[in-house]
This record gives sequence, C-alpha cells and structure tokens, in this order.
Amino acid sequence: MKMKAYQIVEWGQPAEFVDVDKPTPGPNEVLVRMRGAGLCRTDLDLMDAVPGVGPYATVLPHGFTLGHENAGTVEAIGKGVTDLVEGANVIVHHIHSCGNCVFCLRAVEQHCSTYARGAMSLTRGLGLDGGLAPFMLVPRRELLPIGLLDPVEVAPLTDAGVTAYHAVKTVMDRLRPGTTATVIGVGGLGSYGVQLLKLLTEAKIVALDTNAERLAIARALGADHGVCSNDSASDAVMDLTHGYGSDVVLDFVGSNATLAIAAKISRPQGRIVIVGIEGGSLNVGWGSLATSCEVAISMGSTRADLMEICALAERGRLKIDKELFAFEDVEQAYDRLRKGQLVGRAVVTFP
Ligand code: NAD
Ligand code: ZN
Ligand code: ZN
Repeated sequence: MKMKAYQIVEWGQPAEFVDVDKPTPGPNEVLVRMRGAGLCRTDLDLMDAVPGVGPYATVLPHGFTLGHENAGTVEAIGKGVTDLVEGANVIVHHIHSCGNCVFCLRAVEQHCSTYARGAMSLTRGLGLDGGLAPFMLVPRRELLPIGLLDPVEVAPLTDAGVTAYHAVKTVMDRLRPGTTATVIGVGGLGSYGVQLLKLLTEAKIVALDTNAERLAIARALGADHGVCSNDSASDAVMDLTHGYGSDVVLDFVGSNATLAIAAKISRPQGRIVIVGIEGGSLNVGWGSLATSCEVAISMGSTRADLMEICALAERGRLKIDKELFAFEDVEQAYDRLRKGQLVGRAVVTFP
C-alpha cells in the first residue's frame, strides 16, 4: 500500500509530498499510526540547507520524511516485541541509538557514537524517516508507552519539551533561592525552558525575545521579567540582577547576537547552555567571559528525560500550547512557524 510522506528529497530543494510504501515492521520494530507530529525550527533549517554546507547537509543523507516530534498508537508489531499491544498510545524518542557504545551504556544515548553524524545525531526526521506520514516505523527501544496520555497533546514534549527539560536538568542544582536564570528565545523550546525552571527551581527567571508576543507568553508561563532582545538587553539584565548578572543562561537561539548577550550577562561560576542551532559562536577567553563560567552545548535528550517529562504532564504540571493543522496543511503550518506567528507549537494531526 502507498502513502503520502512529506520529505526532504534533495538538499536545497523545498520539501514535498512523495508517494512511498507503507512500511512493515521487521524484528524488534513497531509500526506507529501517527496521531500528532510537532514541527520544529530545525525542520526549516533542514529545508533551507544548502548542499555541501553544514551542519545538516554535510552529514545527513537526503531522502527522508520530516517530523521528529512524534506520537501515535501501535498499528502493528514485529517479531520479538512482546511488551506492546496494538492500539497502545506511544511516543517516539527520535534519536537513533545502538545500545552498545560507551555513550549508550552511560545512558546518554543522544551522543551515540555509532550513529553520530558530525555534530548531529541520526534521528527520526533528521536523516531517518520521521512522522510526517500516516505511519512510521520505529525500533521498539525508541518508543515509550504513555498509557492514557493523549498522543496529540504530548507530541510537542518529544522534542520541544524534552530538549528544554534536558538543558534545565543540567543547571537545576545550581539554581538555589536568590539566583537568576535567563532564557533567550522563548519560542517552541524556550517556553518549556521557562515553565520547567519555574516548576523545578527557585531561580528568578528573565525571558529575552525579539517578539513581544512571545515575551507575554513567557510571562504567563512563569517568567518574572520579559526583556526585548536588542542592543540594550544585557544592560537590562544587569539592572534586573543589581549588577551581578545571571547564574545560568539558556540560549535557545544560538546566534552571534544572543551568545554575545549570554557572555555579557553571565556571572563568575555561571553556566551558559547553548541549545539553539543558529550557528553563532562565542569567544571564550580571559576578559570575554566571566571567570569559572562554564559553556555547554546541549544536544537532544535521553529516553529517561522523555519518561520524566511525560510524568510531569501526567500530573498536570505542564501547559502544552499548540496549534493543530491537518496533514495536508503542513506547508501552511511551516509558513506560520517561519513568520513567528504561532502561539503554541504547530502539531500536525492525521485522520
Ligand atoms: P522557534 O522559532 O519556535 O523559537 C525561536 C524563538 O527565538 C522565537 O520566539 C524567536 O522570536 C526568538 N528569537 C529569534 N531571534 C532572537 C534573538 N536575537 N534574541 C532573542 N530571541 C530571538 O524555534 P524552536 O523550534 O523553539 O527552536 C529553537 C532552536 O533550537 C532552533 O535553533 C532549533 O534548531 C534548536 N533545536 C535544538 C535542539 C538541540 O538538541 N539542541 C533540539 C531541537 C531544536
Ligand atoms: Zn527539533
Ligand atoms: Zn550507541
């Protein structure tokens, strides 16, 4: 049987609907009937990728179905899968991992050395077929059952939510009462950054964005202050912290402009976590960064992170903002994402 899939066919060409075969699960694989597929800014970068230019087009194979924020129900199971039944609600941890390398054994499978491609991990929706199709094939180890949680509701947690959660986990311990955390870029991922900081720490939260509507949403999700991300943003953050600066900066943009702000507002012993992939770089050296300030690039998440953020959702602790689009309207959804017009994460639904 044939089905429509929304694919990157060639680097440098617009993504398009393509007729592909409906997959059949092999041993230890599960065929998922898609219910919700969230759209990420990374997808736009994949569509805009120029052949031969990194970070995606140099390392990932083209010819794959987009969509790395996926949830649905079990349609069929392959040999060897004994713990899932047809019809069960599941979500996909999109990062492909081998289970055997040193990083998999250390339970940081997003760094799996078998499937690392340059600075990227091979992922369902980045190099491997993702969820922008009625059905997707997933190895059992990359699926999590979600019980009674609605797959459409929790689809945005599988990347926007869990990537932010992973980044927040790396700074939670240092965010004691009296500390400040600054979140730069409060869109799909960053808005989870704000609400997770609010939920899990005692830090004062400062949100930075160029879009005033996003700042208003961040305030509603728990940010104490919203600051326009312009040339005077670092002065504003210094004022808000009585000249001390921010203990933690989570940068969900990662451009030269935002990393420059991050460097200016960081305190000694602070931590800058770079999540956004806009390709900026940061000058690290005496005088350009506070003393003992750490810088980390946070890539992806683990399956345990996904399990934990779903537990937060189950307890009703998360506000999962989303805008629903029919699969055939996926291009309209991407257009709204590109123009910064979305209020919540765009989630594509299937009949
Ligand atoms: P988004 O478009 O929903 O949000 C980006 C936000 O940043 C928007 O609100 C935008 O107004 C704001 N912004 C843009 N320029 C800014 C500036 N100079 N200062 C402050 N704010 C600014 O995008 P998203 O889906 O949340 O993705 C965010 C980034 O995270 C992307 O670069 C994406 O590729 C990356 N990403 C990284 C990982 C990872 O594992 N590290 C995973 C998923 C996505
Ligand atoms: Zn993403
Ligand atoms: Zn591995």
